[in-house]
Amino acid sequence: MNPSNQSPNHTAEDESQAVVTRRIQRLSLHLMAPSAQNYDLCIVSCSSRGKLEVDKAQLSGYMRGKHREIQERVFEYFNSRPDLQTPVEILKDDHRELCWRQLLGLVREAGIKPFKHVAEDPAQYFAIAEAVGSVDMSLGIKMGVQYSLWGGSVINLGTKKHRDKYYDGIDNLDYPGCFAMTELHHGSNVQGLQTVATFDPIKDEFIINTPNDGAIKWWIGNAAVHGKFATVFAKLMLPTHDSKGYSDMGVHAFIVPIRDMKTHQTLPGIEIHDCGHKVGLNGVDNGALRFCSVRIPRDNLLNRFGDVSRDGKYTSSLPTINKRFAATLGELVGGRVGLAYSSVGVLKIAATIAIRYSLLRQQFGPPRKPEVSILDYQSQQHKLMPMLASTYAFHFATANLVEKYSEMKKTHDEQLVGDVHALSAGLKSYVTSYTAKSLSVCREACGGHGYAAVNRFGSLRNDHDIFQTFEGDNTVLLQQVAGDLLKQYKEKFQGGPLTVTWNYLRESMNAYLSQPNPVTARWEGEEHLRDPKFQLDAFRYRTSRLLQSVAVRLRKHSKTLGSFGAWNRCLNHLLTLAESHIESVILAKFIEAVQNCPDPSSRAALKLVCDLYALNRIWNDIGTYRNVDYVAPNKAKAIHKLTEYLSFQVRNIAGELIDAFDLPDYVTRAPIARQSDAYAYYTQIVGF
Ligand SMILES: Cc1cc2nc3c(=O)[nH]c(=O)nc-3n(C[C@H](O)[C@H](O)[C@H](O)COP(=O)(O)OP(=O)(O)OC[C@H]3O[C@@H](n4cnc5c(N)ncnc54)[C@H](O)[C@@H]3O)c2cc1C
Repeated sequence: MNPSNQSPNHTAEDESQAVVTRRIQRLSLHLMAPSAQNYDLCIVSCSSRGKLEVDKAQLSGYMRGKHREIQERVFEYFNSRPDLQTPVEILKDDHRELCWRQLLGLVREAGIKPFKHVAEDPAQYFAIAEAVGSVDMSLGIKMGVQYSLWGGSVINLGTKKHRDKYYDGIDNLDYPGCFAMTELHHGSNVQGLQTVATFDPIKDEFIINTPNDGAIKWWIGNAAVHGKFATVFAKLMLPTHDSKGYSDMGVHAFIVPIRDMKTHQTLPGIEIHDCGHKVGLNGVDNGALRFCSVRIPRDNLLNRFGDVSRDGKYTSSLPTINKRFAATLGELVGGRVGLAYSSVGVLKIAATIAIRYSLLRQQFGPPRKPEVSILDYQSQQHKLMPMLASTYAFHFATANLVEKYSEMKKTHDEQLVGDVHALSAGLKSYVTSYTAKSLSVCREACGGHGYAAVNRFGSLRNDHDIFQTFEGDNTVLLQQVAGDLLKQYKEKFQGGPLTVTWNYLRESMNAYLSQPNPVTARWEGEEHLRDPKFQLDAFRYRTSRLLQSVAVRLRKHSKTLGSFGAWNRCLNHLLTLAESHIESVILAKFIEAVQNCPDPSSRAALKLVCDLYALNRIWNDIGTYRNVDYVAPNKAKAIHKLTEYLSFQVRNIAGELIDAFDLPDYVTRAPIARQSDAYAYYTQIVGF
């Protein structure tokens, strides 16, 4: 209010009323969506260097492909049932019950049957899991425990008799179940499990026992409240006629009923405890199981890879405990594939909320000019645009993993099995670690409003965090990738076959290991830097050097430290190697996806995003490239400049790029991303 306009009988009450009005006006400016005109102005000023036209529908169609329909059915169902949407504030026990009702609704009311897809069309199953997880991640995990872990163990580790007996009950949720592998003392080291299943030839039964407190099954999803069965991983002990009395046949899986089908009472010999309130995923009832001489029929051994006959003889098509163990765990990689895929789904949600907000939020500006969108700040672009590029890169890499996994399930091709095993371990760990870090970046990018629970970052971050640990701890999984790379490296020099994903090692290991070309090290033209060949060569060069150098170091240290000690001495080097390899695979898949995109406008947008992904990664590791003169100083500068320029270009189409994820409003349009709703929401809580 202008003081010169004050009326002579102006009072203190008027003044305080004016302060309130001014405050509301100022807040409204922050919270209401900028007018279309403002928004356009901002885009126009940024697009002076040429903005790509993106056909969102085409791009979205290319991204979502054939899974669009099933995901839409999931979203429509929950959209039509607001009573089944998880509120911002909910108690643990209520959340568990809601989660169970959500799952029942999905299966029995919406008629979406995930189990049939686990068995017949895994790609479709993962698409359902991604959509369901974006409604509530607890629901995604609850569904994963029921269908992928409990159900998956029955159909993948069992035989026809198991499928005939359990399939329908698992499918329609009459048989809710658990996957009981982890013990209090052993998580990552599955071969160290201590639960025992001893065969009793007289009664033709196995006796399941928890020999000590450290062997209590811990963290078991579905165990605390809803589960009626558990697939229990235990050492199979067979009676022998020698002095030892029993022979340890290694870890096998057994179906153990844990609650009465009618009364839901815990069965005799079984103790169940609740693992309690967790950092996140509180809609999932994790529990602890102890077994005291629990008897189950011999038929409950999931006997695909090893069986026990009526007279106590063990048979298996696989010759050693290690091979059987590898085959058993190999059948469980689907869980990892699903986590990698769902983690990208989480990244899409977080990136969408943060970028949409950053496009609309305005702070500061040139003197006497309107405030600018915070996404116009270079620092904000630096935080969010490479992340958006990574989201696209991971989308195509995990989609490819899902395709390979589906193919593997059909063909059981040995090379493909090895490839999927290493790739799922690598992508699961790389993508989930990246998403976990990005969730904090997105929260921060939204300032204080990012901290309001309703805007989802808190629950996304807490629920997703454990993706880095379950289905294989990321650090442990990356070591499997490094181990595989070293095996392949050895075989290369012995002329053996290489699995598909690693083929580049054979094709060009020698080229990568020779001295960098002093001429190309100086090429700095945009065309060269945006050439997929330059980008892929740079990624692969780094991997090949890391591989060769770690192989030399391991050989050296193993002479004095033994193989375990040498591995530990080189552990960080090995982890960097694994990540570097996974990045190469991600880039190769992204480049392929760009080249295969049929729509020219989408292809151009994807090429831009792919270049940003590649050059940003190279720039992040520029020290490595400079150290060996792979990149001359001026080329390094050119890479940096071009990365910033591409980041800016991607910013210009960021709105279209997030829209192409095609996520439903109630999943991504958190109040801060729709600022007028934020106003309504905040006024409601704060009570203006
Ligand atoms: C919410 C939740 C749900 C779960 N659901 C289930 C379920 O349904 N069924 C089930 O069976 N299990 C479940 N788990 C267990 C989960 O799979 C394990 O927690 C996981 O495998 C890791 O094992 P751990 O906790 O023993 O960690 P550890 O193996 O003890 O790891 C602890 C730390 O040591 C490091 N470490 C371990 N080994 C190495 C190594 N060789 N080199 C370098 N570092 C190493 C790891 O990186 C990690 O940082 C669940 C866990 C949680 C928290």
